Amino acid sequence: MAGMNWFWRALGGRQGRDQKRSLGLVAAAAALEPELAELGDAELAERARAGRDDAPALLAALREISRRTIGLRPFDVQLQGALRLLEGDVVQMATGEGKTLSGALAAAGFALRGSRVHAITVNSYLAGRDAAWMGPLFEFLGLTAAAIGEADGPAARRAAYAADVVFVAVNELGFDVLRDRGALATGERVLSPAPVAIIDEADSALVDEALVPLVLAGSEPGASPAGRVTDVVRRLTRGEDYTVDEGRRNVFLTDSGARRVERLLGIGSLYDAAHVGGTLTQVNVALHARELLRRDVDYIVRDGRVALVDGSRGRVADLQRWPDGLQAAVEAKEGLDVTEGGRVLDSLTIQQLIGRYPVTCGMTGTAVAAGDQFREFYGLTVSVVEPNVPCIRVDEPDRIYATGADAFAAVVAEVLAVHATGRPVLVGTRDVAESEALAAALAEAGVAPAVLNAKNDEAEAAVIAEAGAPGRVTVSTQMAGRGTDIRLGGADGARRGEVVELGGLCVIGTGRHRTARLDDQLRGRAGRQGDPGSSVFFVALDDDIVREGGAGEELVVQPEDDGRIRDPRAAAHVDRAQRVTEATMLSIHATTWKYNKLIGDQRDILDERRDRLLATDAAWEELAAAEPARAAEVEAIAGPAAAREAARGIMLHHLDEGWSRHLADLDDLRESVHLRALAKESPIDEFHRAAIAAFKGLAERAVAGARETFRSVRVTAEGVDFAAEGLGRPTATWTYMVNDNPLSGGSAVGAIAALFR
Ligand code: ADP
Ligand code: MG
Repeated sequence: MAGMNWFWRALGGRQGRDQKRSLGLVAAAAALEPELAELGDAELAERARAGRDDAPALLAALREISRRTIGLRPFDVQLQGALRLLEGDVVQMATGEGKTLSGALAAAGFALRGSRVHAITVNSYLAGRDAAWMGPLFEFLGLTAAAIGEADGPAARRAAYAADVVFVAVNELGFDVLRDRGALATGERVLSPAPVAIIDEADSALVDEALVPLVLAGSEPGASPAGRVTDVVRRLTRGEDYTVDEGRRNVFLTDSGARRVERLLGIGSLYDAAHVGGTLTQVNVALHARELLRRDVDYIVRDGRVALVDGSRGRVADLQRWPDGLQAAVEAKEGLDVTEGGRVLDSLTIQQLIGRYPVTCGMTGTAVAAGDQFREFYGLTVSVVEPNVPCIRVDEPDRIYATGADAFAAVVAEVLAVHATGRPVLVGTRDVAESEALAAALAEAGVAPAVLNAKNDEAEAAVIAEAGAPGRVTVSTQMAGRGTDIRLGGADGARRGEVVELGGLCVIGTGRHRTARLDDQLRGRAGRQGDPGSSVFFVALDDDIVREGGAGEELVVQPEDDGRIRDPRAAAHVDRAQRVTEATMLSIHATTWKYNKLIGDQRDILDERRDRLLATDAAWEELAAAEPARAAEVEAIAGPAAAREAARGIMLHHLDEGWSRHLADLDDLRESVHLRALAKESPIDEFHRAAIAAFKGLAERAVAGARETFRSVRVTAEGVDFAAEGLGRPTATWTYMVNDNPLSGGSAVGAIAALFR
């Protein structure tokens, strides 16, 4: 850790002056402790309120309140973390340091200063857990805290969002924002304004999942993908009709392949304007589904349906689907009924969601490693908070093998060997198939592990909590962002002494992740709060990330009989490959970021207009000015109130319709600029120019369409029957997430997938 501090200072993070000042304020808070301990509850709460703008007074009062209400006396490092959060940083605190409490202390501080806080968690189970756990602290101060539950309806959500501190899972929040901004009356909305977001596991939300679009769709039979295209693609030959790039990220149709497709479909050139947007995309998508998406890695087939495996969490994702064309192509490939896609009404990325908050801060065990992204994309600074007790975990160097099979055998042998000593073992695997293969191999050897790839966060949390019990073997996919603490000796710590004696939790990784940060998330499960523990990764030279990142480099090494490679050049090769993969991901991120930023900005403009239409009679005024005779007529039939309601509904309908179409247009646009990029135009500039023009068109068309409807719509004494006039909203709406990364290990999102975002 000392080495990291030096590194961090060199990067110019908040070490030095700010950190020193923080420590001084925490020390000042500590000095107030004896005095505050003497106060009655009411006086203490009053002291917190009075001291809300004075850091030592506030922190001291919060420490005492925490002790009295939830029975935890915050450590100095937790106060320091809370302080850095209050100043708007991303705080790095290791796993098990008590970030939940730090976050809650900061939330209380913000709330006392009059700002509603959204405490954003990774999942709804954690939102509920944290709200219940930290609730008494807020109550003591006369503040309210609430959690949003997945099953909560609009009324329950509205009530919860009115609390001073709202614990909510990032996806739930995003979907509520989407539904709110499509509301047809202000009273339908559930959210209350909150200027502050405190994001737990901040790198998970802000970096790993930031570009995943949350989608609000309406039922309307979508363009079903041509079954013929799937058939044609099935007849193509790899290497002849198409090629797959080294990293298995992209498929390219060859010239002869294109001609073959043209012949089989009986069409002219695939690259004609007539086919580029339609048939060519379908062919590419079908190829993509055939070659790059692997059953039991990227998706599983269950109950006759394709269920996606969440790329970053490595488990089945209920709410996720791929962009419609891709989803349908995979369904076709598996011979399943093709589900119909609805029309996308609106979409939102987590990047755009977080951009709505004037104040953003967060905490994670691995903030420094994501420091570039936090700074570049969110303007956030990272603060490092040292662990309460120094970390004594032993991180062994990677054990490198020639092939995946060698590495797998070595992992099995290592798990069995460590298990034989009674030490608990946690194995982090990279995907569901691997976790199942490993569990099967271990069971074969007589050690049945607990396997985590269920869909129930709460049940999973209970299993993880036991992962530190003696003799336990737990196999999990992707531990990042799981948010459950692993105590040595089991959830109640009953057999702690025994496990400490044995050397603590042993963490084994079955391969490096796409970023070292995710490796660190896994390692961090061992050695919490100064516990003993160890970590080691088993790496194969034919692992995806080693091959992709190390492509083109010659590495001549001599494996030993069991495939192990001890040559130091192999370790350097693996590190370099991971860094290359990280860099590729970062640049893709930056590009996608720019696309999304523009779309987000446009939606903001539209929202302003939408708000005005909802909250005022602007729609009526505009239509009456444009169509005075018709306005007089409508008012005479329906009366002033219903006439205004009708005008509002008509305007909103055309605006929302226009936005939905605009989103579809932007998708097409992104696809075509991508193709044109070959002609040396900068795709993003090109996209900007065209997107801005399209947005102007949207506004004009919405007004023209509204005038047209206003003139022709049937009006009665009750106003306009929107449903009967075909102006209603879709009969059903639903939400889902688009899988950001259909390619497992897929650092570079393939061009095809990118087109859909
Ligand atoms: P993190 O999110 O940083 O991994 P948690 O917030 O889940 O950690 O807390 C980990 C454990 O530490 C919890 O069991 C919690 O009860 C305990 N804990 C947190 N703060 C304190 C404290 N000040 N004193 C004692 N135990 C604490
Ligand atoms: Mg946590």
